[in-house]
Amino acid sequence: MYPTAAQAEQMLTHCAHARYVWNLAVEQHAHWRRWRRSAPGFAEQCRQLTEARRECEWLAAGNADVQQQALRDFAKARSARFTSGFGEPTWRRKFQHEGFRVIGTDRVPECHEDGTPKLNAKTGRQVMGRCVVVRKLNRRWARVKVPGCGWVRFRLSVKGKGAVLPDAKTFRVTLRNGQWHVAFAVVPEPVEAPDTGEVIGIDRGVTITAALSDGRKLNCPQLTVRERARIRKHERRAARAKKGSPKKAAEYAKAAKLKAGDANRRKDWCEKTSTMLARTYRLVRFEKLNIKNMTRSAKGTVEQPGRQVRQKAGLNRGVLAQGWGLLRQRTGHKAPGRVEDVPAPYTSLRCSACGWIEKKSRKSQADFECVSCGFTCNADTNAAANVAVGQGGIPRPRRPAGTGGATTATSRSNAREPQPTWVGIPLFQEGEDVKS
Ligand SMILES: [Zn+2]
Repeated sequence: MYPTAAQAEQMLTHCAHARYVWNLAVEQHAHWRRWRRSAPGFAEQCRQLTEARRECEWLAAGNADVQQQALRDFAKARSARFTSGFGEPTWRRKFQHEGFRVIGTDRVPECHEDGTPKLNAKTGRQVMGRCVVVRKLNRRWARVKVPGCGWVRFRLSVKGKGAVLPDAKTFRVTLRNGQWHVAFAVVPEPVEAPDTGEVIGIDRGVTITAALSDGRKLNCPQLTVRERARIRKHERRAARAKKGSPKKAAEYAKAAKLKAGDANRRKDWCEKTSTMLARTYRLVRFEKLNIKNMTRSAKGTVEQPGRQVRQKAGLNRGVLAQGWGLLRQRTGHKAPGRVEDVPAPYTSLRCSACGWIEKKSRKSQADFECVSCGFTCNADTNAAANVAVGQGGIPRPRRPAGTGGATTATSRSNAREPQPTWVGIPLFQEGEDVKS
């Protein structure tokens, strides 16, 4: 969105009101205990909001719809707290979670799915729904009505002939990294499954973001070495600047802008790749990863400090920079019911040709050569082929049972995924031999 200075100021006020109302709702629910009466629901909160507006001048100066929508957002977030993945709604912070929802001011007659008009059960009159007021200016630009601001211009992210303006009831305006964004609340149609019965397996890794079982390798755009150096430079300057000085804030803002660009690039790549996967394949299989556990810190406790903390932090950064979770999530959204998670163990050690599992088969980070049948392949493609079949496998016992002699218990399994040992920035330099 590209608001004028006056519009931006008004929208910031909306953000402040929405945040204030939301945080009040959070506080009300945090106050609840088992022996107390239940915390107020949406309807009761709306009544309380009207009361609060009467008493508080600052709140009354704002838009009632924006404040009420913040309560509706809160009610929705709370009712979906077990399924949304975000958990219990928590505090919103200034400069961090800036945004507000706007309900459309246009009235349109509502229809049932088959096209017959929706009628009020009691009065028999036509039910009128809300619709946002949005106009297209040209191929790239459109404008939307925001309460108190009038028309605000924004660039269309979906361009070309197929781009139609969304038929939405509400939209959300956010301020992220100094940029205003508008998102219309529409549930898009799922991508239809193609006629080909093709199944694809995807192995996600750090060197290759997504290796497909048909041999293709997809890479998520990363920060270049030069960009990383620039981020470091600005962060260093910020650290040395005087506390509270405008210089410090400016340097941090520069670093944040570069990081935001990186995040945008990653998101864009995930969106495009997940659309491609949903359109091309009937069934998409990912190996099951617990990214949260994988990227846990190695810091340890004061009594038991961890080892190689900085190295693990670097690996974690490398893992998170791949956008694995987002790719899986968005593919699931676009192709509902056509995405599967395959248990991950041994997918990278199993031979996709004969099924033999052996650690020695994995010659290096990139090469796979089966010790049993001699099948050679790229290690990631081999793993993706295993994922496509839908299995990792069960490890071969170290020694057959009953042949005498106790199996020596070691802390490490023979069949263990090779772990990258050298981590830092950049994670892997080209031509460098990575020990597995
Ligand atoms: Zn083999």
